[in-house]
Amino acid sequence: MNTLTDTFGRKFPYIRLSITDVCNYKCTYCLPQGYKKTPGDKRDFMSAEEISRLTKALSELGVCKIRLTGGEPTVRKDFFDILKDMKQNSNIPKVTMTTNGYRLDKIAQQLHEAGLDGINISIDSLNRETFKKLTGHDRLQEILTGIKILQKLNFKNIKVNAVLLKGINDSYDDFEKFGNFIKNNKIDFRFIELMQTGDNLDYFKKNHVSSKIFKDYLHKNNWIHQTHGKDAGPSLNFIHSDFEGKFGLIAPYSKDFCKTCNRLRITSRGDLRLCLFGNTGISIRHLLQNDNQKEELLDLVIKQLHLKKESHYLELGNTGITTNLSSTGG
Ligand code: SAM
Repeated sequence: MNTLTDTFGRKFPYIRLSITDVCNYKCTYCLPQGYKKTPGDKRDFMSAEEISRLTKALSELGVCKIRLTGGEPTVRKDFFDILKDMKQNSNIPKVTMTTNGYRLDKIAQQLHEAGLDGINISIDSLNRETFKKLTGHDRLQEILTGIKILQKLNFKNIKVNAVLLKGINDSYDDFEKFGNFIKNNKIDFRFIELMQTGDNLDYFKKNHVSSKIFKDYLHKNNWIHQTHGKDAGPSLNFIHSDFEGKFGLIAPYSKDFCKTCNRLRITSRGDLRLCLFGNTGISIRHLLQNDNQKEELLDLVIKQLHLKKESHYLELGNTGITTNLSSTGG
């Protein structure tokens, strides 16, 4: 039974756990200059041991899914140790990850063998040049090869995410290209509406486009909205009888987006964040130092949850303490 419930009756079986702030890509909307060490930054991310203690404790709160994120989770040298420990020792039934697909062709087999249960890969454009401009890396092909390898290994839960960007991937022509990609490919492709963060206001003003444009495209092309499953998150999913894959949409500015919130976040430095755009984070790291602190840790997480607000108020321009998504684990 899930004991993580907030004052609005929402349940939280799902944790997004960032394991590093470091990212090797330079996505124009997130870290356009790349990850930079700020003065005093010791890169003191949680150790594998602290993460292990944390995930074991979370499983006792009924958490049944953890998504590893970052930064870019795969840049951590002990990434596979963390993943394997979580799969083998934590009692969390589902461990997934969000990645920019870095070296996916090389590590696909290892991910499968470690028991990863699902992967979200960020691909903002299927055009090699556009991809390169957006990320600073000419790596589209290695990601696509990596996806093929995963599919050959019968890896089931593959999702591709793209941030919807004005003039870059928001034309009907772009939508058709993504459609061709999932036509005979059992992959969920989802657009995420660009979110304003503390760092990207100018970029946001220039490049944000409402997800309505994609919704209109889906309706015009006979995609059918799938109703939410019991523990589904805030994404809207669409199916079509001619397509093996699904389209999806994550529209944080839409009305009622937060009603289906089912996730909490823990940053790479061990702060519990109740909302991606909340104003506070509370450190739980001091309670990850030895095994007999577990009860205190569980108590703190449960108490904190009562402070979770009803909405992120993003539509009012509130970005909370989120400077960019790599620091919170998008
Ligand atoms: N490095 C990994 C990756 O690229 O998927 C994981 C971290 S990244 C912060 C997670 C997701 O957040 C990516 O899909 C990225 O495109 C998305 N993202 C980052 N900044 C965003 C923003 N301002 N608005 C919407 N999505 C954003």
